[in-house]
Amino acid sequence: MAAGTLELWMYPRDRGTCKGPTCGAPIIWRKTTDERAVPFNVDPDVIERRRSSSGRMVEIVATDDMHHRTCPDVDLFRQDRQAAAAAKKAPAAPALPLE
Ligand SMILES: [Zn+2]
Repeated sequence: MAAGTLELWMYPRDRGTCKGPTCGAPIIWRKTTDERAVPFNVDPDVIERRRSSSGRMVEIVATDDMHHRTCPDVDLFRQDRQAAAAAKKAPAAPALPLE
C-alpha cells in the first residue's frame, strides 16, 4: 500500500495503550484536523508544518506509523466500528427532554 499523509493538529499528543485484547502496545494518540483520533506506534514523521487559519499549528505527517498497520486486533476494532454504525442507523428511543 502506498504511504499516505494525514493532517494532524500538532497538539494534543497523548500516550496511551492499545485496548486490543492481544495487543496492549503503547500508542500515541493524535487528532486529525477534522477531529478524528488516530493512534500511532511512534510519533509520526512530519513532512510539513504550517499554521491553520485559526493560528493553531498543523503537521502533515506520514501514515506509515499508524497503529492499525501493525495492530493484531485491528479487525476487532473494525467490527466495533461497524456495530456502532449499525446501532446509529437503528431507530433511536425517544429522547428525554433536557432540563
Ligand atoms: Zn493494537
